[in-house]
Amino acid sequence: MATIIDGKALAAKIRSQAKREAEELRAEGVVPGLAVVLVGNDPASRTYVRAKHRDCEECGIPSFDYTLSEQTTQEELLSLLSELNGRSDVAGILVQMPLPDHLDAEAVIAAIDPAKDVDGFHPMNLGKLVRGLPGLRPCTPAGVMRMLEEYGIDPAGKNAVVVGRSSIVGKPMSLMLLAANATVTVAHSGTADVAAACRAADILVVATGRAKMVTADWVKPGAVVIDVGMDRDESGKLCGDVDYAEVEKIAGAITPVPGGVGPMTRAMLMENVVAAARGIEQGC
Ligand code: NAP
Repeated sequence: MATIIDGKALAAKIRSQAKREAEELRAEGVVPGLAVVLVGNDPASRTYVRAKHRDCEECGIPSFDYTLSEQTTQEELLSLLSELNGRSDVAGILVQMPLPDHLDAEAVIAAIDPAKDVDGFHPMNLGKLVRGLPGLRPCTPAGVMRMLEEYGIDPAGKNAVVVGRSSIVGKPMSLMLLAANATVTVAHSGTADVAAACRAADILVVATGRAKMVTADWVKPGAVVIDVGMDRDESGKLCGDVDYAEVEKIAGAITPVPGGVGPMTRAMLMENVVAAARGIEQGC
């Protein structure tokens, strides 16, 4: 039976540490505030934003809510970001993605001060990750690395396979595993045989958005399986990109969905806000 990697419990530990650090910062007169910008009425985005405000409240991090109408123009959004960049009580800025189609997401991300970019999506922070320099790291892959660390799983010398190459998960994930001395393969929709690539993995990270795509015959017995996916199965139930019930029987360790990577992503955001408030840049 696989070790179940409990992201929920670990995330609670990270939030309590962030809370202690936020208290220290406030005692030093530093406000570790987070501005959360949401444009439009996407129900999933609203739910995510509410959860982020709740996490902030738990951690004693002041959160500022900017819910803007669907009709917000690029100029209005850039002007708000410029104001937030200049505010001393705003340590971190997060613009909830996806943005409505008329807005240029790349220009919006680039307009956030890299020192306040707690999502770690700014080209400056992604560039620092590529170059192995400290910087604010994207929360989801940073959360995965923390889970591996906490469970004593050292990627050094292992074959790590990342399925998915998005800029927010797959690509930064592969760079972080590389920095931790894994031998990294990135599979994607153009990969000739994704199953064969997965079978070579000692550490398999799946981030495709394809419900239960990874079946037991794709997994090397004893492998560590990290499921980033947040999907719905045929009956509408939340599930991951991995067929958990089957893969759990042969994996060495596995993250559940829910209760795995999701809570870690949220907790790492709190850690990033505290780090941004301190002006500390983090390594891989
Ligand atoms: P994305 O931007 O849609 O990227 C998906 C990636 O998967 C792409 O690189 C795509 O390849 C690849 N892919 C799709 N189908 C594939 C297939 N059949 N075989 C191999 N590769 C395939 O998605 P994302 O933003 O990275 O998110 C991925 C999943 O993680 C989603 O379920 C999302 O909801 C979830 N997620 C969870 C968290 C969390 O906190 N738990 C955070 C972020 C995302 P191409 O590049 O070739 O198209």
